[in-house]
Amino acid sequence: MKQGLLVVVSGASGTGKGTVCSALLESLPDLAYSISATTRLPRDGEKDGVNYYFLSREEFREMIDEGGFLEWAEVYGNYYGTPLKKIQERLAEGQDILLEIDTQGALKVMEKCPEGVFIFLVPPSLEELERRIRGRGTETEESLARRLGAAREEIGIGRRYRYVVMNDKVDLAVERIRAVLMAERCRVERNTDIFEVLEK
Ligand code: ADP
Ligand code: 5GP
Repeated sequence: MKQGLLVVVSGASGTGKGTVCSALLESLPDLAYSISATTRLPRDGEKDGVNYYFLSREEFREMIDEGGFLEWAEVYGNYYGTPLKKIQERLAEGQDILLEIDTQGALKVMEKCPEGVFIFLVPPSLEELERRIRGRGTETEESLARRLGAAREEIGIGRRYRYVVMNDKVDLAVERIRAVLMAERCRVERNTDIFEVLEK
């Protein structure tokens, strides 16, 4: 059985990761979203076990101690982590998995799983980034300033990814990611079985 693709999408807050990933998941029913755990409070409309597993700090700490995360990071004062067990099982079953995580977490995954597909999503400009975060209406002025301050630094980390995808239009960003995934599925190192059959 061929391992599934571990697809990692990151980008500064407000770039449109959530929006693009939802559209991508809709267009690719075979891609499964990895639900992260977090200690932040749910936003309006967010549901436990759907958007995140909402944990207390104690519960999160316990999960760290048990080795339950592929990676975890502190982002804007809250903890976020990728639960390990389900991902391992599903990749082994050939299921493609999508992680939408911050750059600190993605760098850890690059070390542990270099065969992953690392995609950095960028906004057309920093002005547009600010407009998007304001337009979303979920942040206080303080949290907005913090996210914008972090954005420039985070975008620099994007140079360490394999792919950069511009999110000018959601449809175009989705199409670019679909093209990346198609190409990744065609990589020689993921298809040694083809050679084994043809060279017999
Ligand atoms: P992130 O998950 O990266 O923090 P969101 O998906 O919450 O970002 O998007 C931030 C805001 O920008 C939302 O209001 C969303 O509707 C908007 N947005 C996302 N992508 C685009 C785009 N390509 N063009 C215009 N607005 C966008
Ligand atoms: P938000 O609070 O807006 O949902 O997410 C804040 C940031 O945390 C985003 O950059 C998001 O990608 C990141 N994030 C979400 N889940 C995880 C995770 O499991 N691990 C890490 N490292 N970051 C995460």
